[in-house]
Amino acid sequence: MSIENTIAKLASIGADLSTRNAIRIALSLISEDEELTDQIYVEIKNKAHKEEFIKVPVEERAIFIPQCLRNVKECPAEFGEYGWECTKCGKCPIGEIIEHAEKIGYKHIYIVPGGSLVKKVLKEKVPRGEIKAALGIACWPELAEANEKLSILKIPLQAVPLLRAGCINTLVDVERVKEAMEIGLTKKDKAKLPSSDPNPAPVP
Ligand code: SF4
Repeated sequence: MSIENTIAKLASIGADLSTRNAIRIALSLISEDEELTDQIYVEIKNKAHKEEFIKVPVEERAIFIPQCLRNVKECPAEFGEYGWECTKCGKCPIGEIIEHAEKIGYKHIYIVPGGSLVKKVLKEKVPRGEIKAALGIACWPELAEANEKLSILKIPLQAVPLLRAGCINTLVDVERVKEAMEIGLTKKDKAKLPSSDPNPAPVP
């Protein structure tokens, strides 16, 4: 059964889907795999937070990229105050992700080794009003945990799961990341972006 169908089935029995624990219990009631808990929780939260995320201008959205996406053996990035400083060498997808984000206007982009740096960034920049929404790339359990923590700070999160999780050389769907970054942008906004296509289609 697809995740959407599982969510629909849970909704049809009136299950409480507001917390990870409630989802885990509901899954066991319909004899579905409880390991789907985090995935379902994150998908539900992505939908629930989308409208709030849209209201935040891109300059006030943070992007958190996990360091496990780096090409560990060949990455020339140095580690700075706010995580790895990518040189866009092209040896992993992070360079492309950052380049696209910068074109759109994102100012807060972090390649983080873990939750402690995310916490440091949020602790500094949320009270100053510099960050009001977040886009995170991680494995399902980390995304679920981030959702719980950011809800407390009232920071709407859009989460993109890794296609291959692990500690090194993980994988992500770059197009899905770009789509998430562009949430809330109008067709006209997108048309203003510098394009790598020499013959872009006209915007209706
Ligand atoms: S694109 Fe950036 S993060 Fe990836 S290997 Fe190159 S410098 Fe490192």
